[in-house]
Amino acid sequence: MTGASYQLPLETAARACPVCGTAADAGRVRYGERLDPARLDRFAFASRKLPELMHWRLVECPVCDLLFASPAPAGQALAAAYRDAGYDSREEAQYAASTYGGLLREVVPRLPAEGGVLDVGAGDGAFLGVLREHGFDDLVGLEPSLAALAAADPDVRPLIREDVLRAGDYEPGRFRLVSCLQTVEHLRDPLVTFQTAHGVLQEGGALFVVCHDRRAVTNRLLGRRSPIYDIEHLQLFSPRSLHALLERAGFRDVELCRFRNRYPLRYWLRLAPLGRRTKRGLIAALDRAGVGAVALTLPVGNLAAVAWRQLPA
Ligand SMILES: [Zn+2]
Repeated sequence: MTGASYQLPLETAARACPVCGTAADAGRVRYGERLDPARLDRFAFASRKLPELMHWRLVECPVCDLLFASPAPAGQALAAAYRDAGYDSREEAQYAASTYGGLLREVVPRLPAEGGVLDVGAGDGAFLGVLREHGFDDLVGLEPSLAALAAADPDVRPLIREDVLRAGDYEPGRFRLVSCLQTVEHLRDPLVTFQTAHGVLQEGGALFVVCHDRRAVTNRLLGRRSPIYDIEHLQLFSPRSLHALLERAGFRDVELCRFRNRYPLRYWLRLAPLGRRTKRGLIAALDRAGVGAVALTLPVGNLAAVAWRQLPA
C-alpha cells in the first residue's frame, strides 16, 4: 500500500434519499462528516482494504430506513476515484465469491433455462469464475476499477467490460440472472441501477444482491467503529431499506437472508476495530506463525437478497 498523493473527490452535492426521494432535511443526521484528506490514499475507493474509519455526513431516512451520504461526491468525481482505485484483495475476493456461490445454490434451479448472467461490480472476476463452475456460459462482468481488472485471471478477464451498468446498453430480457455483490453501497444512484437491472432481466429471472446490514448486531455494537462506516459507502442498508429499494426498482418476490462469511484470519483482523499499526503488526505475526491463511466463518452482518422479475399473470 502506498501513500502516493491521491486527489480526494471534494466536489460534493446535497442529495435526497436515493431510495425513496425523501429530502435529507427530513431525516436525522446520524453521524457528522469525518474526513481527513491527508490520510487518504488511492485505496480509499477500493473494496476490502484496511478501513480508514472516515465517512461522509450520514442521514437516516425516516421513510425507508436507508442511511445515506448527503452531501455526497458528484458522479464524475466518483467515477474517476473508482477508475483509479487500488486493488489488493484477490485472496479475499476468492473467499467471498465461494460464499456467495453457496448462497446461489438454491436459486440456480429456479432460474429460466436460457439467457446470460451479468455481474455488476465484478472486481477481479472471482464470482464469474464461480458462476462458470455452476454451469453458466454466457457471462458478462462490469467493473470500473482498472486495478481490479488488471488483477483478473486471464481466463475471466475477456468477460469483463471496464464500465458501469447503463440503461440501453443491453436489450430487454438479455439476462436470466444479474448479480450485484458488495457494490450497491458504492453506487451514486442505486435505484436507477436496479431499475436498469430489472429491465435487462427476463421474466422469471432474478437479481442477486449482497450488502452490509447496518442493523446487524455486530455493526450496532461497533457503532461508528464498524468498518462499514467508510468513505467508499454512499449509503448503508438494513433489511427494510434494501427491500424498499428492490420493490421501487420493480421487483416483486423479494427474499432476504442474513448469512455468515468465511475469510482467512488475517482478513478478519484487517476489519477489526483496532489501530492500523496494531493491525499490521498482528497480521504480520499471524503470517509468520503460518496461521494468517486459516479460514474462519463468522456472522458479521451481511445481508443477501434474491429479487425476482415476475412472470406475467
Ligand atoms: Zn428513503
